[in-house]
This record gives sequence, C-alpha cells and structure tokens, in this order.
Amino acid sequence: MNYDKDNIFAKILNGQIPCDKVFENNYVLSFKDINPKAKTHLLIIPKEPFIDISDFLQNADKLYQSKFWESVDEIINNLGFRDKGFQIKTHKGKKGGQEVFHFHLHLLSNY
Ligand code: AMP
Repeated sequence: MNYDKDNIFAKILNGQIPCDKVFENNYVLSFKDINPKAKTHLLIIPKEPFIDISDFLQNADKLYQSKFWESVDEIINNLGFRDKGFQIKTHKGKKGGQEVFHFHLHLLSNY
C-alpha cells in the first residue's frame, strides 16, 4: 500500500481542511477528534507522511521518531494528564479499525 497524499489528515496538514488545533510544532500536529469518544479526545499526527504505526516505526528516521514521542509527551504534560491518567490508542490496517491512512495516535482522557 502506498501513502495516499489526498487522505483527510494530509488535507488538514496542508490547510485544505480546517481542524480544531490544540498543539503544533515542527514535527506534529494535534487537533480534536471530530467524533469524540471521551471528554478529551485528541489526534496526534506526524507532519511527515506515514501510513500507520508500522510504517512510522520501520521507516521514519530515529531522530524524527524521538522528536515525535517527545512532542507526544509535551502534549500530555500541557494538558496535565501525566498525573491524572489517559489512554493512547492507534489503529493499524483496515482489520485493525483504521479509517484514515495517515499515522495517528488517539489521546483520550476523561479529564
Ligand atoms: P481511525 O483511522 O480509525 O483511527 O480513526 C480516524 C479518526 O479520525 C476517527 O476517530 C474520526 O472521528 C477522526 N476524524 C475523521 N475526520 C476528521 C476531521 N476532519 N477532523 C477531526 N477528526 C477527524
């Protein structure tokens, strides 16, 4: 499977589609999920094009991976979730429930 550059998150990244942004740096964009499953339900996406977590872990360079996870930690800290608790989920592949084929984490919390 090749990365589809017209997927909805690619369009959010290039500004074609709006999002409810909560965090952005050079590596990631985070915005509210349009169909929230918890009081806080954010999506965190890399700015670089990876299809899913396997593509990201196998093909993103290690420095970029490290910047990605540091950014995730920064978002968690900004929201005060480190102490309060949260869930992180990702779907991989159609059979894993993935609907949008640009790697993303779901960050969920009832705070
Ligand atoms: P999945 O690929 O199954 O991990 O889920 C994709 C997620 O993206 C779902 O939770 C959708 O509600 C969410 N979603 C789809 N389109 C948008 C959008 N335009 N803005 C924010 N969230 C979206």
